Amino acid sequence: MNNARSVIVVGGGVVGLCTAYYLAREGFAVTVVERSAEGADSCAHGSAGYVSPSHVVPLSAPGMVKQGLKWMLSSRSPFYIKPRLDPTLWRWAWLFAQSCTPEHTRRAAPLLRDLCVAARALFGELAAQTGNAFELRREGLLNLCQTEEMLEHETHGLARLANELGVEARTIDAREAGALEPGIKMKVVGAVYFPGDAHLSPRKFVPVMAARAREAGVAFRWETTVRGWATAGGRVTGVATSTGLLTADEYVIATGSWAGDTVTGLRLRVPMQAGKGYSLTLARPRWQLTKSLILTERRVAVTPMGETLRFGGTMEISGHDGRVRPERVEQIVAGARAFFPEMTAEDFAGVKPWFGYRPVSPDGLPYIGRFGRYANLTAACGHAMLGLTMAPITGVLVADVLAGRAPRVDLAMLRPDRFA
Ligand SMILES: Cc1cc2nc3c(=O)[nH]c(=O)nc-3n(C[C@H](O)[C@H](O)[C@H](O)COP(=O)(O)OP(=O)(O)OC[C@H]3O[C@@H](n4cnc5c(N)ncnc54)[C@H](O)[C@@H]3O)c2cc1C
Repeated sequence: MNNARSVIVVGGGVVGLCTAYYLAREGFAVTVVERSAEGADSCAHGSAGYVSPSHVVPLSAPGMVKQGLKWMLSSRSPFYIKPRLDPTLWRWAWLFAQSCTPEHTRRAAPLLRDLCVAARALFGELAAQTGNAFELRREGLLNLCQTEEMLEHETHGLARLANELGVEARTIDAREAGALEPGIKMKVVGAVYFPGDAHLSPRKFVPVMAARAREAGVAFRWETTVRGWATAGGRVTGVATSTGLLTADEYVIATGSWAGDTVTGLRLRVPMQAGKGYSLTLARPRWQLTKSLILTERRVAVTPMGETLRFGGTMEISGHDGRVRPERVEQIVAGARAFFPEMTAEDFAGVKPWFGYRPVSPDGLPYIGRFGRYANLTAACGHAMLGLTMAPITGVLVADVLAGRAPRVDLAMLRPDRFA
């Protein structure tokens, strides 16, 4: 193993930054190539900030096709696919439908558990090293339910699976839920409580990781766009960028929802859709919460972050379309008001909606590992709803791969070529 090898990481979102950091710690000479300016917004910035071992069921879960088809008809639904004449969308949708099987969940769930549990430990280490500069809170997560039917469903579905996998999950009634989160009045029948989940402030975490990476020796080329690739003899020999050709021994693709475009010209297929999500952050909320919450029936995430309170949700597969759809933002507010009777539209007045593009693979699993076609090209993308949670473990796994070690989590199901 030659630890002085150079690596170019394309993409400086949370996954690219964590990957660069762990590669630099491994002794690689790392350069991050990012088209945005330093400090620019990324998908993690406005995310819900969950570090969630409880998320053991992949997005492509059984029942999602039926539910998705119903939801497709309404742009107000939590999961919306905007029909378009785009063959990559239809291929993605077909692959997604193929993955919505109990067998896929059975195989994917232990892997998601392993990735998220390992990630939680890494966040703990990073918090200890940085004086908890990104406000990691190990307070657990409550999946709040408004109907007995949903509570039953969560208890017999998610909670049972989580417990089988060793992720503690407990069904509690409304009284206990209220006692665990006394900061706000809730209109619920009960909840599933995941005491092992955590949350953090992503707007603090991303710059902390950029600084940690820099301290570890990572070089940054901001405002530099990768436009193409040079290859020879089964290897990548360079990246063509807006500022010229850059070369390294190894290349890592960490361009999130744009990864499918990034590989253009490499004769690779990385099926990916941008899953747009919105969030609204109350700067001075009237309530002080301690835990992260999911408003289950409405698919809204609620997270206390320092003094602020964030509401996030919706998954809109409509390409990289920068339009804010007010009806989708309204659904987040409506969900919050349905669960928290004290909340009014006034509480959200003047709050500017944020949106980001989740990188969504068709089977709800990230792409991590080397491509078969090129000996020195590695993927680190496609983490969908768990990209913040999985960023540090992705970095560690990519460092394992590039250092020639057996990765500490089996990457067989995460092969980037699996849909080739
Ligand atoms: C509303 C919402 C809530 C969420 N909540 C959570 C949560 O609670 N927990 C969780 O774990 N995850 C959550 N997520 C998901 C998480 O935010 C994402 O999975 C994660 O941020 C993706 O990170 P990334 O680095 O892969 O992608 P990105 O942040 O999109 O980074 C990719 C980078 O690549 C750059 N790039 C693209 N193309 C090129 C090019 N050609 N040349 C150079 N640079 C390029 C882009 O500019 C970008 O900076 C949430 C997402 C949303 C939208």
